[in-house]
Amino acid sequence: MQDKLYAAIDLGGTKIYAVLAENGGRILSSVRYDTQADEGPEAILEQMATSVREVLAQAGAGPDRLSAVGVCLAGFFDWQRRFLIQSPNIHGLEQFRVEERLSQKLRVPVLAENDANAAALGEALCGAAQGSQDVLYLTVSTGIGAGLVLGGQIYRGTRGFAGEAGHMVVKPDGFLCGCGRHGCLETVSSGTAIARMANEALQSGKAALLRELARQQGGMVSAATVFRAARDGDETAQEIISEAIYYLGIALVNLVNVLNPEIVVIGGGVSAAGEELFVPLEKAIQNYAVPPAAASVTLRQATLGVEAGVRGMLCLLAEAENGRDG
Ligand SMILES: [Zn+2]
Repeated sequence: MQDKLYAAIDLGGTKIYAVLAENGGRILSSVRYDTQADEGPEAILEQMATSVREVLAQAGAGPDRLSAVGVCLAGFFDWQRRFLIQSPNIHGLEQFRVEERLSQKLRVPVLAENDANAAALGEALCGAAQGSQDVLYLTVSTGIGAGLVLGGQIYRGTRGFAGEAGHMVVKPDGFLCGCGRHGCLETVSSGTAIARMANEALQSGKAALLRELARQQGGMVSAATVFRAARDGDETAQEIISEAIYYLGIALVNLVNVLNPEIVVIGGGVSAAGEELFVPLEKAIQNYAVPPAAASVTLRQATLGVEAGVRGMLCLLAEAENGRDG
């Protein structure tokens, strides 16, 4: 008999990434599409089903070999009642029963999870934090999310909403957040926030070097552009970056004090800034976290990139399978 195969999908606001893997976790094929984020739940479901059919076809495997599918997605997934309450970047997924609906289409069991939780498990089991039991994973990109692996297991809280570190309030009189509250970490330290602050500076006539870099890129300012301008000596860009990292540092110190993790893994697009992000964050932990917790934590850059979420889902599927067997 041929081995069972598993598919895992990472449904993000901009990209959908799907892989097919063997029982032991070896990835056989993968696809990546732009998410049809404005087309509604039926289009999203069809896109997910198509991605699974395509990874099967790429690997030359018939649908009968597919054993189960894991989906991780951005948003508030109610882990007890098994539905997505809402997703911040994909419209129309309110009260969305992704497991039930995708399972009807593909005729195999489907398991869903919040994307940061899945990525945290992926990094803890086969990425930057391999071998660690207590891991805090932070992703800093368009938004900011976190996943907690405590005692080797995902910590979800009572209903599945633990780890919403992007919505820790660090500046109560601050900018309006997508969640409806003011001054969340995401509004000051995410890639979106860095780009917003840069655009504000450009409109007020500051940041000559940043302006030149933006012009070379067709007027677009991303967080990466701001990091580059800061590196090249643009003082306004440096101020923006240090403000973003200052608040991220405060949030991180508070999380380290509360959780006493062994490893903090930082992923997401902004983590590509490398030392310019990691050195000041390390300093913040050493200067402000309680000394014994500061002394026992290691800060690391994520290593799995876009694969973190699907890796975590493959581990959860294997765990669920063992549970069924046992
Ligand atoms: Zn918020």
